[in-house]
Amino acid sequence: MKPVITIDFDCCLAFESVQNTGWIVMGTGVLKPIEPVIAYVKRKYAKGFELHIVSFREEKDKQEMIDFCKQQKLDIASFTCTSSKSKTPFLKALKSTLHIDDSLSVCLGAEAAGIRTLFVDFGQLKDDSQKELASSLGTIRVQLD
Ligand SMILES: [Mg+2]
Repeated sequence: MKPVITIDFDCCLAFESVQNTGWIVMGTGVLKPIEPVIAYVKRKYAKGFELHIVSFREEKDKQEMIDFCKQQKLDIASFTCTSSKSKTPFLKALKSTLHIDDSLSVCLGAEAAGIRTLFVDFGQLKDDSQKELASSLGTIRVQLD
């Protein structure tokens, strides 16, 4: 059996590009790849890891993730939509050895269950105590623009 890596989708593999009209900033509905994370999981895949997506998304929003991963030539073994339910039980069921996520609370929950995590940092943490907590986790820094 191959070792499993689980990956969040939104703000981890992909982010929605925004348009700044000068008056307001709006989402365009277009997903853009987050290259450093995609390159990282492709390297892991080449080393023999199996990749699974675990997202807070609803089931109805699954196809968009499948299409995006196909476009990015990512070979994903399964897509799980937790519909905002805690990810930890799903990560355990998949026997995840590493979970990659931009949510600090998801990372801390997984670590508490003995699953190593990689925190995707795009500057979303504003609070010093949160930054302190994140500093104990492995981190990939990315820029979303
Ligand atoms: Mg996310």
